[in-house]
Amino acid sequence: MIRFRTLGVVVAAAAAMALTLSGCGSDNGNGNAGGDQTSTAAASGGGGGGGGDSIVDKAKSSGKLTIGVKFDQPGLGLKKPDGSFAGFDIDVARYIAKELGVEESGITFKETPSAQRETALGNHEVDMIVATYSITDKRKEAVTFAGPYFIAHQDLLVKKDSDITSPDKLANKLLCSVTGSTSAQKVKDKYPDVQLKEYGGYSDCVNALKSGAIDAVTTDDVILAGYAAQYPGEFKLVGEPFSDENYGVGLWKGDTKAQSAVNAAIEKMQSDGSWKKFLDDNVGPSGYEIPDPPEITEK
Ligand code: GLU
Repeated sequence: MIRFRTLGVVVAAAAAMALTLSGCGSDNGNGNAGGDQTSTAAASGGGGGGGGDSIVDKAKSSGKLTIGVKFDQPGLGLKKPDGSFAGFDIDVARYIAKELGVEESGITFKETPSAQRETALGNHEVDMIVATYSITDKRKEAVTFAGPYFIAHQDLLVKKDSDITSPDKLANKLLCSVTGSTSAQKVKDKYPDVQLKEYGGYSDCVNALKSGAIDAVTTDDVILAGYAAQYPGEFKLVGEPFSDENYGVGLWKGDTKAQSAVNAAIEKMQSDGSWKKFLDDNVGPSGYEIPDPPEITEK
């Protein structure tokens, strides 16, 4: 009993301290534990208003860029056991970097899980993000996007013999998605009765599907196709897409110079055949049907 009460006091004291600390943090424009809003404030406050601060100049003068990608999405952003990187997003990132004057040897890839992307850009931990990152109005409050460079659609991945044939068939089933993703948000908005389990990355969901701990995984079809190809014969895509996901290149809020330069790189990548080749090489083997390139909207 007494031990519990002591613990309670300690917890209360810790909570009070956390409150005090976060209070100080936002006064300094330096708190990032709380989420996007605070770190955005930190970025524009610390960066002198953000106006003159562009990664285009940084890339040119240093020959280096730190690019946020996924590490666990086969076909898109994957860190291989030998430490090398592969995927459509990786190729897109390398192409854009080259256009900004940065060779492959000057790129540092940093893992940016879905829930950490706005924060990583907000506090300038990364210079840009190429990570199946959907352009949304909410995210645009914290981030500037270039693109889109690809449009995917939310779908479901299930075991080969599953009876789930559409998102309407998820009653009493356990669905897995990722914290901070549009995929998880869409389920909460559109299918509020579905039991949703949120993990940090899609590979965690796929492992849970494999073990039978959950019944379905939901995110963009192109991501799910990559996992299905990784485990031939085990899973299938349901094939009832229920959203449009416009993949943008995430940039520091207000870096319009980078937005123009990255848009120009995307247009060149599409017109010189690289875009199609990157998709054929990385996404084609999963059987995913390669769509037409999208129009650039973020300018
Ligand atoms: N494209 C969606 C998003 O940006 C889902 C994929 C992901 O989480 O990266 O949230």
